[in-house]
Amino acid sequence: MVDPQPASEQSPERRHPPRLEETEEGAVLFNVPFPSDLSQLKGMSPIIAKWPYQINYIHSYGQDSPFFAGLANKKLLGTRCSRCGTAYGTPRLRCMGCGGECDWFELPRRGRVHTWTTCYFSGEAYLDETPFHLILVEWENVATLFLSRLVGCESADISIGMQVEARFRRNSKFNVADVYFVRAPKQT
Ligand SMILES: [Zn+2]
Repeated sequence: MVDPQPASEQSPERRHPPRLEETEEGAVLFNVPFPSDLSQLKGMSPIIAKWPYQINYIHSYGQDSPFFAGLANKKLLGTRCSRCGTAYGTPRLRCMGCGGECDWFELPRRGRVHTWTTCYFSGEAYLDETPFHLILVEWENVATLFLSRLVGCESADISIGMQVEARFRRNSKFNVADVYFVRAPKQT
């Protein structure tokens, strides 16, 4: 198309149209092959790009916050109903039985293996650590079981009912893997 105005009479925006800045973020592809005959486009191989992906995730721990504060301070917390006395090893602030309000208490360091399994596959976060043992921990007079890792044991050494003891990571990540269990040392 012929421009009716000579370049010298064009506005600065016309001579230098605004352009978005080029960046090096994300995938940068150069010299992408492109056929002159558009009918060949359907036979084109798919473009496959790979780049790191990261997001900031903001998550409220809400009423569970004391549980994670406990882990960071090497305390495993449960809750107990103030009305009917039911104790929970997976804490909640409302009783599942009667709806009463629960109070926090510290669970014993020692519990027993209720059941266990060995994981040879897992979610991405723990995939590098497979195989590992998962246990459900039970305590006397506590109504729910606590899912956790059992560390330092071979499968042949694990048995239902064996005594286990909680350990805590020094650097809390504020997730439930901050606590794990080992075979309880013999009490003297
Ligand atoms: Zn209750």
